[in-house]
Amino acid sequence: MSVFEMPEFDRHEEVVFHQEPGTNLRAIVAIHSTALGPAAGGCRMRSYASCNEALTDVLRLSRGMSYKNALANLAFGGGKAVIIADPKRPKTPELFEAYGRLVDSLGGRYITAEDVGTTTADMESVARQSRYVSGLARHAGNVGGDPGPKTALGVYLGLKAAARFRLGRADLQGVAIAVQGVGGVGYHLCRMLAADGARLFVADVRAAAVERAAREWGATPVAVEDILSQEVEIFAPCALGAILNVQSIRSLRAKVVAGAANNQLALDRDGLALHAAGVLYAPDYVINAGGIINVYHEYYGTSSEAQVSAAIAGIPARLTDIFERSRRENRPTNAVADELARARIEVGHKRLVA
Ligand code: NAD
Repeated sequence: MSVFEMPEFDRHEEVVFHQEPGTNLRAIVAIHSTALGPAAGGCRMRSYASCNEALTDVLRLSRGMSYKNALANLAFGGGKAVIIADPKRPKTPELFEAYGRLVDSLGGRYITAEDVGTTTADMESVARQSRYVSGLARHAGNVGGDPGPKTALGVYLGLKAAARFRLGRADLQGVAIAVQGVGGVGYHLCRMLAADGARLFVADVRAAAVERAAREWGATPVAVEDILSQEVEIFAPCALGAILNVQSIRSLRAKVVAGAANNQLALDRDGLALHAAGVLYAPDYVINAGGIINVYHEYYGTSSEAQVSAAIAGIPARLTDIFERSRRENRPTNAVADELARARIEVGHKRLVA
């Protein structure tokens, strides 16, 4: 099957495959849409089983960024990059400088930042080669830095809105919440949930991360394979994507799914299965937009910390609007969100061609 025929391709404007032998860089940049502004989205570094797996991942993530940025009201289009990591070679500044040259060659059509497997320090290496990068180290008084804590803040606020809507809960005191993955975002999310008196159940492939959550907040450790079927009210996926599928949805006990992971639904139709099962799903790209909101304000260098927080505070209202439409029209929340996002992008397209 050619790239154009892949279902994930979905009218991408541009897909760039790049290899730099000297530095061992192998990367794919996917630009889904620039209708609302330069395509922005993080750079993921993983050791993919195949080039096809990396391509599928970057295309899905890139389209997700178009939708995320559109619904967060940012003047950004959607794009994403993946670096195919070589597990035999360590990460080096030279590798990210080479990646920076690739980003720069796109002339600002794509703006990069952190994602899974990349850090603020890596983006500093990118910045030595290109100005089209955000998520850089914070300097006194500046907005910016690791977007993870801001993503966690948006997820926390969105999760509370979902708990209010589906469980009728005004607060999280005593509410049982299962968190899958206590990394950059999951850790900060757990901190806020614990402060609200939630009962936490956590799983992570890294034992040390689970031990820390148990030590710091009295979270109950759960085996990785059991976290999704934990007897809880809310499930917060904060690890990898495609975890909600026909089988896993059957074993889900929670009434709400609200977490940070990108592309939580294996297929769009899994949103219908959740809806039919009475599970309220907070569309991933709506609830996890806090990080890109921070990236946006850092990139344009115009805002204060208070403005960033105010923009993130808009996430629960956006979600509640989607929940209400979903209930009113008896349609899955992901279908409602996709429709709203596509309509906004279409407005941008019309403006571009007018
Ligand atoms: P991270 O790599 O810091 O944390 C992920 C955690 O999940 C790690 O601790 C890892 O050990 C754990 N994990 C991996 N596989 C697991 C499994 N099978 N079961 C349980 N735990 C597992 O990444 P992050 O920055 O915290 O991001 C988490 C998710 O949120 C990702 O899907 C990411 O794409 C998404 N996201 C992150 C941001 C951000 O600002 N960092 C923004 C939007 C979306």
